[in-house]
Amino acid sequence: MESLDAFAAAKLAVLDAAGLRRALRPTTRAQGAEVLREGRRLISFSSNDYLGLASHPVVVEAATAAARRFGAGAGASRLVCGDHPLMAELELALARLKGAEAALVFSSGYLANLGAVPALVGLGDLVVLDELSHSCMWAGARLSRARVEPFRHNDLDHARGVLGRRRGGAGRALLLTERVFSMDGDRAPETELLALAAAHDAWTLVDDAHGLGVVEPGDRAPLEMGTLSKSLGSQGGYLCASAPVIELMKNRARGFVYTTGLAPPSAAAALAALEVMAAEPDRRARPLGLARRFTRRLRLPEAASAIVPVTVGEARAALALSAALEARGFLVPAIRPPTVPVGTARLRLAFSALHTEAQVDALADALAELRPALLPEEPA
Ligand SMILES: *Cc1c(COP(=O)(O)O)cnc(C)c1O
Repeated sequence: MESLDAFAAAKLAVLDAAGLRRALRPTTRAQGAEVLREGRRLISFSSNDYLGLASHPVVVEAATAAARRFGAGAGASRLVCGDHPLMAELELALARLKGAEAALVFSSGYLANLGAVPALVGLGDLVVLDELSHSCMWAGARLSRARVEPFRHNDLDHARGVLGRRRGGAGRALLLTERVFSMDGDRAPETELLALAAAHDAWTLVDDAHGLGVVEPGDRAPLEMGTLSKSLGSQGGYLCASAPVIELMKNRARGFVYTTGLAPPSAAAALAALEVMAAEPDRRARPLGLARRFTRRLRLPEAASAIVPVTVGEARAALALSAALEARGFLVPAIRPPTVPVGTARLRLAFSALHTEAQVDALADALAELRPALLPEEPA
């Protein structure tokens, strides 16, 4: 036991020394985009609840009613204890929204990628993925035991080169990317990537975790996954695909078969959120509109999504800037390696339909004030 604790302490000391140690800070939601932390109210730009649906009365009521009627948890895997009808209802709604033949709901988006990728490719196959793909796409790719080949972020020529070199020697091939990149807020060149993949007989899986309800896709990939826990304000993940692929997932995706089903209140909340989302185009337009208001005000490159990165560089500098903003009443997380590449620590701002224009302007002004001292010079 002593060696175990010594190991943990030594690891933590290394993280500390590099400014990379993370800590949980007790924080609760307050009104609108505000949160309460250590007795202070902060305006939060940290949440992926882009449409403000996690606290929407209709969504909360749907979850509450489902908990009363059906209980708090699912009890077991959906294959084992029977499938709650809410799941099929939710899957139908998701498939419709995405124009797909079928959908499958998972207990989280992480599990959806972890389950889907190894169900499609294995030893002797190829996974080609954007280097900035989310941790769970990398994890799914590695777990599959296929050959894993990253291409430079959004670099079509590099992706073409990788496929040209590696596709021939592989059995099946899968190309992974994100509609909106989670820590950069930029968008993949989807139309071109889909065509490139098709030309090499590779299947494309697009992760839509940060796009749903916020940015309109140009194209639909044959495999689209996402989460119920961001713009839908609930918890859980999904995959949309053809009927045979979804049938295969029910049988072979370990992140589906061997884990407890989604809790009924989460499914009910997601269903209600989908309805609110569909009925309120103004709500859907707000996060991107506010992000663009912010980038205009600071003369940053125009926002392509609800996510705006402010790159700082070193982890400690990003932490200092985040702390300075917190002192001024803003919760803006510093994102450090290994979540982002070394040397690109940043603030990650997430805009929500709940923010007011005045809150967005206040953040922009606070950052502009701190910028000379704490931010690197603007690129020419
Ligand atoms: C958040 C996220 C996931 C995981 O979704 P969860 O439902 O939170 O597990 C997957 N992919 C990307 C790009 C994400 O940002």
